[in-house]
Amino acid sequence: MKCLICGSDSAGEVCNKCSRLEKILYQKEWTNKGGFMRKSEDFRIVVSNMRISGRVAISDKSSGLNARTDNMSHYLLNIQDCSQVNYQGKSTVMVKIENTSGENAQYTRYCFLPGFEEADQLIAAIADGKQKAATLTDRIRQTNGIASSTPAPASAAASIPTPAPRPAAPTPTPAPAPRPAAPTPAPAAAPSSYDTVALSSVASDINEFETKIKKLKVLRDNGILSEEEYQAEKKKLVSIF
Ligand SMILES: [Zn+2]
Repeated sequence: MKCLICGSDSAGEVCNKCSRLEKILYQKEWTNKGGFMRKSEDFRIVVSNMRISGRVAISDKSSGLNARTDNMSHYLLNIQDCSQVNYQGKSTVMVKIENTSGENAQYTRYCFLPGFEEADQLIAAIADGKQKAATLTDRIRQTNGIASSTPAPASAAASIPTPAPRPAAPTPTPAPAPRPAAPTPAPAAAPSSYDTVALSSVASDINEFETKIKKLKVLRDNGILSEEEYQAEKKKLVSIF
């Protein structure tokens, strides 16, 4: 399948590269005593800035019919709804997860959390996480777009991972991060003498230099370049210009 964030090939809804930027926002483990046939079962729920995962009761039906307890991991923006419902005679949280992306298999599944007692905290964590996931997704796609649309200096290209193509139909994000302002192009003043020709070429060099530094910063801020790699690439740039 394709990573729902960056669009590269992935084993799950979020690829390994993107999950390096994952931060856990909420997690809880609990045991539900007196469930089906009075059996005790262990459950777990984890909300990060890109995924919801854990061990829950999963069903294809909102009634919870034929639910099975299993591990799951989904892209956070695929959560359609999170509400309190009645499940096996008790109040429980139900998380509705839906994938409508054309790239991957489409599904709707209902996750139930029997015996879970922190519904309000979980619902708040999901709301907070979805905003963070939307911002992060936008940043990752932007970085990939910037890195793939402009050739980097040959020396830098070797250490920058190959950017994944932008997904054909990006998921609409509720709170997109502001895009960085496009670098202003050097004024194309008509040179009238040798001096102004030289000056305008200096100006465009400085402009190019600033653009490249900005790109390196974006790569570093998104964790694609380490601080050391960033400093090394910056040093190389300084020596070129
Ligand atoms: Zn990815």
